[in-house]
Amino acid sequence: MRKFSLSLLALAVTLPLLSCNGEQEQRAEFFVFGTMVEIVVRDTDHQTASIAFAELQQRFTAMHRDWHAWEHGELTALNLAFSEQRSMEVSPGIRYLIQRSQELEALSGGRFNAAMGAMIGLWGFHTSVFPVTDPVPSNEAIGFLLDAAPSASDIIFDGDSAFSHNRFVQLDFGAIAKGHATDLAIELLARHGIDEALVNAGGDLMAVGGTDENPWMVGVRRPGGGLIGGIEITGSEAVFTSGADQRYLLQTGRRYPHILDPFTGMPVQGVASVTVISDSGLLADAAATALMVAGRDSWLEVIQAFGLEAVMLVDDQGEVFVTPAMKERLIPESGTELQLTVVEVPSEG
Ligand code: ADP
Ligand code: MG
Repeated sequence: MRKFSLSLLALAVTLPLLSCNGEQEQRAEFFVFGTMVEIVVRDTDHQTASIAFAELQQRFTAMHRDWHAWEHGELTALNLAFSEQRSMEVSPGIRYLIQRSQELEALSGGRFNAAMGAMIGLWGFHTSVFPVTDPVPSNEAIGFLLDAAPSASDIIFDGDSAFSHNRFVQLDFGAIAKGHATDLAIELLARHGIDEALVNAGGDLMAVGGTDENPWMVGVRRPGGGLIGGIEITGSEAVFTSGADQRYLLQTGRRYPHILDPFTGMPVQGVASVTVISDSGLLADAAATALMVAGRDSWLEVIQAFGLEAVMLVDDQGEVFVTPAMKERLIPESGTELQLTVVEVPSEG
């Protein structure tokens, strides 16, 4: 089995881990979506790369502004319109995210819910400062929002206008924005003729153009620190991880992660992280979040519903569960063995 060496990882605080073969690479970095976004392209002249990077930064900045769940912008204006029972004209970008959220909510059996922004805000997670130290919300407040039962399916379109039948629908695209943005970034680069690229949004990433001889190598972070292993990407693939260990509310020594179970209004428990490989960034991002909610009890159900193959779940004891397809992909650091529990995905039907 291939192994990768630690020396190559030494500088890789975030992913990706390696640039192979010394083929000329050009990089750009900018801070959006509360994270550092790194773009790496290969086999492109300097001028093409600079123009594409500038356009990307502009697009990312616009997405950040338009899709933000609490800083004033298009989405907060739409959420206000929903709460005041008004209809509002929406841009094609937001319309697309709403429609995908409706599909993903249905597909995930309600575990992914982009309409529960009010519950996320109630827990204090509409912030860039972690850990949150607000008090845990009262059962009454949580119960009130559970009874309101906001769902993306409450939203209807009339021409370019959106209206919510439920005034408690508050959209929060925190679980898909990065995924969709990486898909769009890869498309934008392709329009500039760049088809060997990696877009890394703080460890969540999408890569294209890797080959067997020169794959993109990325690392999967172990919750709490270190790496679980590496993954080589050839072709076009996204690798997304949702985790409980970085963004949470801390109260009386207890951690309440920022991913909420829509059925209880409570932060997920028992799962430290989920990593998904998929050909779509948006799907990988949404699926990772839905799988955090599903946990060990029902992750296989969600894997089947989303048609996923390579998935990893790390529980709160640090045990690493993988599907057979994920096991195939994981490469240990040299000098180490992977400690994995392989779980078969039952075939449907
Ligand atoms: P990360 O930020 O660790 O990559 P995710 O992609 O899972 O995590 O996104 C988490 C964010 O998604 C939360 O901060 C919140 O804004 C939102 N969110 C939390 N729980 C859910 C859920 N069950 N369904 C949809 N969005 C959620
Ligand atoms: Mg996600």
